[in-house]
Amino acid sequence: MIKKQTKESTSLLRQAVPPDMRQLTELHVHLGGSVPIYRLWEMGIMRGIRGAADSYEEFVRRMHRTNERTENLDQYLEIFDTVELIQAGPDGVRESILIAINGAYRTGGMRQLGPGGEGGDPDPVFEINRLELRFNPMKRTGLMLSRGAVSGLFDADRIIRAACDAVVQSEIAYKGAIQAGLIICFARDLPWEVNRSLAEKIRYWKKSQKKIIGIDLAGPESVLPLDNPGDLERMAEVFDCAGDDLGRTVHVGETPHTSLDTFLATLRALKPQRVAHPVVAARAFWQNNDARGLELLAEMNICCELCVKSNLLTRALDTPEEYGKFIALLDDFGIRYTFSTDSPALQMTTLANEMEFLLEHSAITPEQLLKAFKNAEAASFLRA
Ligand SMILES: [Zn+2]
Repeated sequence: MIKKQTKESTSLLRQAVPPDMRQLTELHVHLGGSVPIYRLWEMGIMRGIRGAADSYEEFVRRMHRTNERTENLDQYLEIFDTVELIQAGPDGVRESILIAINGAYRTGGMRQLGPGGEGGDPDPVFEINRLELRFNPMKRTGLMLSRGAVSGLFDADRIIRAACDAVVQSEIAYKGAIQAGLIICFARDLPWEVNRSLAEKIRYWKKSQKKIIGIDLAGPESVLPLDNPGDLERMAEVFDCAGDDLGRTVHVGETPHTSLDTFLATLRALKPQRVAHPVVAARAFWQNNDARGLELLAEMNICCELCVKSNLLTRALDTPEEYGKFIALLDDFGIRYTFSTDSPALQMTTLANEMEFLLEHSAITPEQLLKAFKNAEAASFLRA
């Protein structure tokens, strides 16, 4: 009798992940990209948000980050204003965080999702039981409505407090089966005044709210590449104001807007323990045989946060083959790396889906994959 080959029997991921590694840490996920599209639609209706789309189908089409709709980071980010409005305010943030944490646990190990982003795999390969969720509270104040003014409709302090409460509520509900923490993002596309104000709020709230575990810099590199020393100094002051007792990670080097020299200067000025998508270091090596970026990553023992489909969508890396080359290069230089999904809900992806994708394209070996899973656990800002 010929045994029919099912997707199950050919799952390279299931073969690669041993039974004692079925609980994983994911450390690079944005709140704006973590609420499934069908839930965003429902939240938009509930909250009476105007003009999100003319129909559900159009909304799904607009929100879904696909190859056809994104050719660079700026295009990838263009719908986040809408998402941030839907998620704005203490109640919106609280609800979004509960959905995001539950979603990571429930669907992170699924290899496929349904059409609106609902779960679609009855037998997940693993579960995400430690999650670092990042967001910018200032972008949840309704700030975008205020046309250049620096205060939004909602109170940022109450948003931060609601976010921390939502994490605690989730952990209580899961009775310890999931641990989560918040990374607060500064923005390349908000006024300095807003970033400074956010730093002061982090400094205040971290004393009582232990769910704030780190800080990050996110947003379009095209708007604020930090290529001028004055800007970099200002950003370092913002980071320092938040304090050096929080984990530090930075989105830098994802696009051609960041030169290798700016990349190096950014790492030295902001002193992160982790960086997201440092592709410029590899490009400089491939194109100009310039290894300074890779050497500095190794020297500072920085752990790289890689997000496979997001990096392909923004064209930071062009093909799965090039992704494999990138991973191998990091290994050659002894640089640690981890895998995350960035915006799983808007990319309609999961960690399991992306790892299966790498394995199917021979862009990674099972050994590299397991090493990356262990790196995520070790590099997490969550305390054991
Ligand atoms: Zn990111």
